[in-house]
Amino acid sequence: MPVESTSELLKHYEVYETIGSGGFAKVKLGIHILTGEKVAIKIMEKKDLGDDLPRVKIEIEAMKNLSHQHVCRLYHVIETSSKIYMVLEYCPGGELFDYIIAKDRLSEEETRVFFCQIISALAYVHSQGYAHRDLKPENLLIGEDHNLKLIDFGLCAKPKGGLGFELLTCCGSPAYAAPELIQGKAYIGSEADVWSMGILLYALLCGFLPFDDDNCMVLYRKITRGKYSNPHWLSPASILLLNQMMQVDPKRRLTVKQLLDHPWVMKGYGTPVEWHSKHPLGHIDEDCITEMAVAFKQSRQRTIQLVSEWKYDQMTATYLLLLAKKHQGRPVRLRAECPMIDPLYSPLQDIQLKKSLRFSEDDDGVHPVVRGSMVFPTDCYDDENPWTPLTPKNTHTTNTPRMKLTSETSEKRRNEIGYSPIIEQGRPRQQKPERRDRTRQNKENLAVTGTDGDVFALPAPRTPMCSRKTKSNRNVATTPNNNITTTSSDANKGAGSATKEVSRRREVDQQQNGQQGELDILAFSPERRSRSLDLAGCQVDSGQKRKGGRVFGSLERGLDKVITMLTPSKKRGPRDGPRKIKAQYNVTLTSQTNADQVLNQILSILPEKNVDFVQKGYALKCHTQSDFGKVTMQFELEVCILQKPEVVGIRRQRLKGDAWVYKHLVEDILSTSSI
Ligand code: ADP
Repeated sequence: MPVESTSELLKHYEVYETIGSGGFAKVKLGIHILTGEKVAIKIMEKKDLGDDLPRVKIEIEAMKNLSHQHVCRLYHVIETSSKIYMVLEYCPGGELFDYIIAKDRLSEEETRVFFCQIISALAYVHSQGYAHRDLKPENLLIGEDHNLKLIDFGLCAKPKGGLGFELLTCCGSPAYAAPELIQGKAYIGSEADVWSMGILLYALLCGFLPFDDDNCMVLYRKITRGKYSNPHWLSPASILLLNQMMQVDPKRRLTVKQLLDHPWVMKGYGTPVEWHSKHPLGHIDEDCITEMAVAFKQSRQRTIQLVSEWKYDQMTATYLLLLAKKHQGRPVRLRAECPMIDPLYSPLQDIQLKKSLRFSEDDDGVHPVVRGSMVFPTDCYDDENPWTPLTPKNTHTTNTPRMKLTSETSEKRRNEIGYSPIIEQGRPRQQKPERRDRTRQNKENLAVTGTDGDVFALPAPRTPMCSRKTKSNRNVATTPNNNITTTSSDANKGAGSATKEVSRRREVDQQQNGQQGELDILAFSPERRSRSLDLAGCQVDSGQKRKGGRVFGSLERGLDKVITMLTPSKKRGPRDGPRKIKAQYNVTLTSQTNADQVLNQILSILPEKNVDFVQKGYALKCHTQSDFGKVTMQFELEVCILQKPEVVGIRRQRLKGDAWVYKHLVEDILSTSSI
């Protein structure tokens, strides 16, 4: 039952800075007031969700049914008249994707540790009847103790007859999609997941994708051929495993069951992967119940009764967060200084709490707060001063290009959304628009959501991006002390960088296979470079790739890799100097000591790369946009001073957009800035 306002959230949580954003959601760091535990609060605006609302419902239903050490736990769902809040297990280590690129690639040993956790998560998810269908390193977060947690179940499927039943909906991120899926064939969800796991394994071991291209159709062709290069650093055992997983014929592909005790997976462990849940659903823990009963002044029996309803309300959240404390060996205690809040709604308490919390209902619903002695960083940008919203209100923003096309979709529908016919595999097919993003039809989730026709209504047709001719030219001075500077330029549309990834990949192909890759058929133009920002693939110069690799990887290799997510900061005025921070995995070290000089270098390069930005002091909130003005990528770059050694560093954070495209773009910016 939707509540009226954000107060339901603020009654139970303190809300801090934005830690990520996706196609629909903004994710903020929060503190659950009663337990003092950190949580991630996924905030979705109903009006922006539109036809994607079913996706959120599917995600919530799936997460309610999943409880596993490698699946991000859902604690609480709050629905107001305008927003949906999902309170989730907080994963402080960020995305696996960022971890890979910070290291260039992972060793076989480290890959094995992560991959076993991925297998464990998927074996469990499949055992519960779900196929994930959007596996990629951006959807695996690093939690406490370096454990992976699977997120983003919005595209999952739970076929009514079980996972052995065929699915039809083509969805996920193109680069990770199985051949049978992109061919529009009926497919088995678990088999498609194994293909994506193969791509993931390759990305972990290599630091790039096995199938990558600027052009979606070329990418699809590569995937359906199933040919990729094996870089020289891969061991024969890794090559074999990758080959067994990336079999074009799904029936020849390994199954998750076979992966559990595969020799490569077991190497050094000697035992199969443990995939059963350590924290099965429905378990009632005596210690947690006792603590809650005392705090809520309820009988134990009544407390058990309330918890067992699993309403994903304050009771569920308090119980699960206490349980998480217990699992981490911490005392099963609620915060002593907390008011004893009746778990059931009480408007009076609500009003009292509002007085003690600073909040306002802006578009995020909340402002960061400082409470007690805990000081958390605020966003680089004030919520009162949001950066220019360039996304038209009625369009959907996406984290990555995704497909979601049902084979039942009629010719008419295809025409509606602007497909142009191509010939594929000897029969006419419709060319998919290159950014068909989020799910619209998900009839496969009948078991999850019922058969509400409206729920799965088709979206309004989207304008295909294909014919952008010009872009506004808003050149603004780039002085470092400007408080806010917005710039946009059509100059130098990244020409040059487009062909560079081609040469890099060709080099790998030639080295490994002694042959020219099929990328030969592409001759990129500057326009293609601009398009590449909208697609899964991206172009980077081979030189820049190597140099860029260092920008993200080797420079940081000697640094402390401990992912410390909270760097205390204060709100600063524009004339303050750069922040002093500790080296983190997402900070690129420079050899320079003059922050203004570094900032100026970056500022001068951004327009060349078609990156618009808002400047606030030494932080730049950057974005790129598609031909039609849709924001395709958002990220932050901040010039900071590192403590040891005392040099200038650049903190970078992706907020939205395809992870690989972001990687290449930021590498490009930093290496071209000759920092
Ligand atoms: P969407 O469903 O809109 O794509 P996601 O669930 O993928 O949104 O979340 C967007 C981003 O927010 C993630 O890529 C990640 O960086 C961050 N994020 C999401 N969930 C968590 C979490 N539990 N802990 C920490 N960060 C998170």
